[in-house]
Amino acid sequence: MSEEAFNPCISCGACCSKFRVSFYWGEADDAPGGYVPAHLTEKVTPFLRAMAGTHPIPLRCVALQGEIGQSVNCSIYSHRPSPCREFSVWLEDGRPNRACTTVRAKIGLPELPAIHPAASDAERRAG
Ligand code: SF4
Ligand code: SF4
Repeated sequence: MSEEAFNPCISCGACCSKFRVSFYWGEADDAPGGYVPAHLTEKVTPFLRAMAGTHPIPLRCVALQGEIGQSVNCSIYSHRPSPCREFSVWLEDGRPNRACTTVRAKIGLPELPAIHPAASDAERRAG
């Protein structure tokens, strides 16, 4: 999920339930320097972990709290793995991320409007 000030993610959660969230095993906290709670992950390969609940069939990440499409939050937000940090609502040019739009549609949520990158922070804060 994204951390924008105007945050459509808090009423969505689609990407936490529609993708396998897998990442290099060293991100888990049973590895030196890791930070993702290992007990919330599953082994995919010797080198890959996935958030439990997203593998092999993405149903719902175990770290997601709340009701999808209504009100959600990530219980490990500051320790979420890299795919979650890299998945954004908007692209750098301000257009909505197509992958975000696609999974939002799967839970009945509309496409988000494009934003102007230069004004994005102020617009998001204004909501
Ligand atoms: S699908 Fe998009 S809007 Fe929904 S939680 Fe993920 S990044 Fe946020
Ligand atoms: S770790 Fe958090 S942001 Fe990542 S899929 Fe799970 S609930 Fe979503």
